[in-house]
Amino acid sequence: MGVSSQRPVLLDLLRRHWGYDGFRPLQQEAMEAHLSRRDSIVILPTGGGKSLCFQAPALAMEGTAIVVSPLISLMKDQVDTLRGMGIQAGKLHSGQPVDEARAVGDALRSGDLRLLYVSPERLIMEGFDRITRGAPVSFLAVDEAHCISEWGHDFRKEYRMLAGFREAFPEASIHAYTATATPQVAKDMGAQLGLRKPVTLIGSFDRPNLFYRSEPRGDATLQIRRIAARHRGESGIVYCISRKDTEKIAEELRGAGIDALPYHAGLADEVRATNQDRFINDEVQVIVATIAFGMGIDKPDVRFVVHAGLPKSLENYQQESGRAGRDGLASECVLLHSGADIMKWKHITRDLPAAQLRISNNKLRAVEDYATSFACRRAALLRYFGEGWTQESCGGCDVCAGHPSPVPDSLVVAQKILSCVKRLREEHGPVYTANVLRAADDARIVEAGHHQLSTYGLLRDVTAEVVRGWIAQLSAQGYLLLDGRGEAPLRVTARGWEAIHGRATPQLFQPSARGEEFVEEEVPQNDEWQGVDRDLFEELRILRANLAKDSDLRPYQVFGDRTLREMASVRPSTLAGLGRLYGVGQRKRESYGDAFLAAIRSFCKRRPELPVDVDLEAAPPPRKASGPSPDRVKAQALELLRKGGSVRDVAEVVHRAESTIRGYLVSMIGEENLTDPELWVPASDVKRIRSAAKKLDEYTRLRPIFDHLEGSIPYDHISITLACLRNSRGE
Ligand code: ADP
Ligand code: ZN
Repeated sequence: MGVSSQRPVLLDLLRRHWGYDGFRPLQQEAMEAHLSRRDSIVILPTGGGKSLCFQAPALAMEGTAIVVSPLISLMKDQVDTLRGMGIQAGKLHSGQPVDEARAVGDALRSGDLRLLYVSPERLIMEGFDRITRGAPVSFLAVDEAHCISEWGHDFRKEYRMLAGFREAFPEASIHAYTATATPQVAKDMGAQLGLRKPVTLIGSFDRPNLFYRSEPRGDATLQIRRIAARHRGESGIVYCISRKDTEKIAEELRGAGIDALPYHAGLADEVRATNQDRFINDEVQVIVATIAFGMGIDKPDVRFVVHAGLPKSLENYQQESGRAGRDGLASECVLLHSGADIMKWKHITRDLPAAQLRISNNKLRAVEDYATSFACRRAALLRYFGEGWTQESCGGCDVCAGHPSPVPDSLVVAQKILSCVKRLREEHGPVYTANVLRAADDARIVEAGHHQLSTYGLLRDVTAEVVRGWIAQLSAQGYLLLDGRGEAPLRVTARGWEAIHGRATPQLFQPSARGEEFVEEEVPQNDEWQGVDRDLFEELRILRANLAKDSDLRPYQVFGDRTLREMASVRPSTLAGLGRLYGVGQRKRESYGDAFLAAIRSFCKRRPELPVDVDLEAAPPPRKASGPSPDRVKAQALELLRKGGSVRDVAEVVHRAESTIRGYLVSMIGEENLTDPELWVPASDVKRIRSAAKKLDEYTRLRPIFDHLEGSIPYDHISITLACLRNSRGE
């Protein structure tokens, strides 16, 4: 692999059909495994771009690629998307009309189909060979391959039958794809599928475009309104533990003018399906759901995922929050936590057998730690999943961004509150307790003689809201029990006792200064929106929704948000210009190009001050910088470079110019005194550069070497190699 790189062929396919101009990490390697017919196991996070890894090779190879997918909705989504791009694809699953299945069979045998999506039970029912009946098969790609393993969290019996594929098609390679696999599951997948020396590719699970936040839950609806206001008009998912909560929050959000619908297993099938559809089609902004929601939908432009109740494990959290920002644009994940949820989960799991209960409690504890600690959230998540994460600060979570500021003497403050609860004999609720601590004017205090307690007035200088905030934090961190309803009495837990005695240290922070009222905050303009005319963007979204409806597609299958944002900032006036934007492949340009150009033209006529064809001259087309801070982008770029990512690929991933990335790489080589350029430059180039440098005795200027080699080696390679040579010469 690698030596006979198929990169140009694959890049050409990516450009022509998808309108993308580079690979995401590990995509190229994954695709090359298909082309060289080598079995593979590919583990990439949600949104990592797994589908492309098998779709692009399917176009480049003889025969039909068979893709096994567990959910009919996902299968339909992918097949519709492919067809929308002019790629011949079909699907077979149980419960399909006979004539539709027959037509698929005909297309298959005529050799027209590039990809055939099959549900596992259908593959078994028909028998592998009868399905294809002599039609050549290029490879088998198994999506959600962890379903084959009993060790995984989503075992499906039907997947076991895939073991027969190897025998039926000894020539075809088999490729397993999943977003979640522990080493044990990965090994099991290989064994069950009978893989032969598979190439194993494991991506980083970091999702750099997601901003993680954790807040104690107060008035959840108010908190959600604030979040939704930051993403005006854009889609969001709110997860709740109970059905009742989904109904209540959806209703409250509607009352506050936010378009929201509930989704849970208790709704009639029809209602549930309609609500889901309306969300996917952008007809409703927010879906408030139990965790039953989300499997089988691939909506790429979800901009926020809020957990209004604690998830039961970090595995769940990763999966559910991961539904934000699949398209790579900045999105946020907010966890609203409360000690009451821990009690709720403990109640739900109380009848589990002892061993399982222990596991369940440990997982819950991990979620609680994640939510209440003051360590980088991203680091906490990645470490939980076994990824070595060494960065000090990610810049992409509330902790690293310095949002909650820690209270300097947390332990002392906590001790004051906890002792006060004790002195009040654990008979009073948060409001009363806060009043005693603040020496507030409350007749009941004097009546009860509580003004004589030693803890009376200890937090005199602090507002009531802040003290109550701290009480909520102590409860969330397990030092206090707070029922969550009204003025139920507070109680000090065993952990709280430890804190009173100085053996445990709660971490308190200043509650945000925002009050209990909803105040519309300014919509933050992250730099992804730079230059984007929001009004035009809105008009294009409406056009997109209408076009989608006409062709029975999802809006995102017409064009993704990133493409619309580029249209709204570049404002192309020609089809050629439009075709250079992100995500505009040949077929889509033909199908929708004129409609979008007309909309842009009409908008610009109304707003003559707006220039058209902005920056189109500069190749490649403009990339909007992505949301994360510059530091964070740099850190991510360095991380990818260390893993051997090429300058070009890394530039694509982090949406920065190649020159910027080259700069990062060269300074990293200098700072870390690296001497081996072969991670980034082919050995043959290194050799030629080295001998040219030696001959010319030139280790700094690039031009003489470039000229000496008659322009046959890119500047990129020369500057990287020279930086390493300087180090090995001790310069
Ligand atoms: P996964 O299946 O791994 O969750 P998808 O295959 O759904 O991820 O891809 C997520 C999104 O990223 C899709 O909108 C897809 O079109 C887009 N995408 C995939 N590969 C690339 C690429 N190389 N460049 C730009 N966008 C890509
Ligand atoms: Zn962080």
